[in-house]
Amino acid sequence: MSPRLGILAAMDRELDAVLADLRDRRAERVLGRTFHAGSLHGADAVAVISGIGKTAVATTTTLLIERFAAHAIVLIGVAGRVSDALAVGDVVIASELVHHDLDARPIFPRYEVPALRTARLPTDARLAERAAAAAMRFAAGRGTVARGLVLSGDQFLGEERIAELRGRFPDGLAVEMEGAAVAQVCIESGTPCAVVRTISDGGDAASFRRFLERDAGEYARGILAALVPTLA
Ligand code: SAH
Repeated sequence: MSPRLGILAAMDRELDAVLADLRDRRAERVLGRTFHAGSLHGADAVAVISGIGKTAVATTTTLLIERFAAHAIVLIGVAGRVSDALAVGDVVIASELVHHDLDARPIFPRYEVPALRTARLPTDARLAERAAAAAMRFAAGRGTVARGLVLSGDQFLGEERIAELRGRFPDGLAVEMEGAAVAQVCIESGTPCAVVRTISDGGDAASFRRFLERDAGEYARGILAALVPTLA
């Protein structure tokens, strides 16, 4: 049997779109979260809402790995645009992630995760490669696909704070609220992970809501439909 894939969808709209393709579905509730196991494009999978923010997603990721035996994790959702080269509808595949709000100076260097002795948390190169190829197939005609640094923190950032973040991370592509926590749990547990984020806004809540309403479900479903069959 193929290894079990854990899918973290950031919002219910995205999860609902993914569940439309999940066959032989069984739901189980743990710690207030509903995990949906089944067959996704022929792969054994468990899909769940990540929860907003790093604590929520770290818990959900741990449950996916420890309780639902996920062997690989894909986080899919939307993000704010940090790089000027990107636009709403473009897709970012994280090659590495940083907790932009983690700061234990002077004990540790800024952003460093003490247990891992690094600030930049890598995703799995092979899974990221496949996610980028899938996103390119899906996004053709909709937007571009970029790979690089994604920034995570426990705040929805507006335009001004994104500009400040760009100053601190000139190579930052996108900002969101979960990815670095997923990468951290996955590194600690030796689980390959990919983080796939579509740009929904440049810090403007109306743009975020509009993208979520109209497009986010289609992106999540379409990218996974292109990705999952390539993972067998
Ligand atoms: N559900 C709430 C708030 C969502 S917070 C609402 O509808 O208003 C935004 C979510 O999208 C987070 O999970 C985060 O990962 C991502 N996100 C999108 N744009 C963002 C931005 N500009 N700053 C931080 N996170 C952003």
